[in-house]
Amino acid sequence: MTIYRATALDTPDNPFTGGVLRSAQDAGIRVEDGVIRARGDFPDVRKAHPDDAVVDLRGGVLLPGFVDTHVHYPQVRAIGALGMPLLDWLEHSALPEEARLADPAYAAEVARELVSGLVAAGTTTALVFGAHFGSAVDALFTEVSRLGLRVTAGLVVSDRVLRPELLTTPTRAYDEGRALAERWHGIGRTRYAVTPRFSLSSSDALLESCAALAKDVEGAWFTSHLNENLAEIRRVAAQFAASVDYLDTYDHHGLVGPRSVFAHNVHVSDRELSLLASQGAAVAHCPTSNSALGSGPFPLRRHVEHAVTVALGSDVGAGTGFSLLKEGLQAYFIQQLLGPQGLLLTSTHLLYLATRAGAEALGLADEVGDLSVGRAFDAVWVRPAPGATLETVLRHAASPADALAKIFALGTVADTAGVWVAGSQVLGQLPGRVAAQHTGG
Ligand SMILES: [Zn+2]
Repeated sequence: MTIYRATALDTPDNPFTGGVLRSAQDAGIRVEDGVIRARGDFPDVRKAHPDDAVVDLRGGVLLPGFVDTHVHYPQVRAIGALGMPLLDWLEHSALPEEARLADPAYAAEVARELVSGLVAAGTTTALVFGAHFGSAVDALFTEVSRLGLRVTAGLVVSDRVLRPELLTTPTRAYDEGRALAERWHGIGRTRYAVTPRFSLSSSDALLESCAALAKDVEGAWFTSHLNENLAEIRRVAAQFAASVDYLDTYDHHGLVGPRSVFAHNVHVSDRELSLLASQGAAVAHCPTSNSALGSGPFPLRRHVEHAVTVALGSDVGAGTGFSLLKEGLQAYFIQQLLGPQGLLLTSTHLLYLATRAGAEALGLADEVGDLSVGRAFDAVWVRPAPGATLETVLRHAASPADALAKIFALGTVADTAGVWVAGSQVLGQLPGRVAAQHTGG
């Protein structure tokens, strides 16, 4: 049993519907078998459990582990290719790199880079857009399992439009996906996600095979792209002439449901928003990617008004890094620039979007997303180095919400001083404690 002593901030209740920031200046969070069993003021928790080990995390802020709902495994090395819109970027930057993951040794290296990037950013749970090659997806699951990260991912499938080495057939997509799901779905903390790249690179037969796989793998997730870029949307409309809109291309095959997460959704109709809400499907909002590719400003207000679940995604490698602090700040910027059409986001909203909302979107709301009793101890300790500007402004913060705003404004991966998944420390080294780098689980 361990008691973590920290200034803790989290958002157990949705701030878009009235929830407020929960802050505890001197919290005692008691963890047993990776699960938070008690929390309260540190002196009280300590008094009740005088024999427990104490990990002193004062001098920083403890947050729930971040939840990234859209990040591309094979695009780590493609980060930073600026200056192109989506379809050009895919052709010239992302897809040539994705093709290299056909080589298992190359894929294994990239899997390590992805996982270390996620952990360094404080991301403990992710919906990862996988690779087009089964061996590469095995490498991803192998690597995330070494650290015990909560990762949902799958084989990316396409049967048209893309370069030939990335294409498959509906039958092969089903068979390879099924085999991967049998190896990884529900094993430890990994789950399988059926993942057609997007409708543009999918025939109806391929989407049908995806629907069959999603049905046959009990509890499988579904993820894809939706309404990202106007040129993309025009091509999807031309290809699926019978569909009323982009979402309909998926819905036609029964792929819009409570275990579906769609990335982007920048240019969305009210009909699509209503359908997403009624089906309980979630949207991954990827602010730096939307800005970097010029995809457009995300209509967050309309999503909230339609009660669609929205959470943050880094969308590496169109996104500009793994940090959900940066994504939160960019989300805030865009909403500010939208003026009356935007939604003024507080730091409480940003933390919610980076943690609790992601847990809700991924069906993990009972397990992670905040630091309540009963949740797994998935946490990130933000502690800037002495003399860093963030350290200075945190000392002068007027309130917990103000401190949190400063963390979103100034925080980077350099400020991640410790990361835990289910009570196992996967990053950072504390005085007198050696980090458990690999849990073996
Ligand atoms: Zn994406």
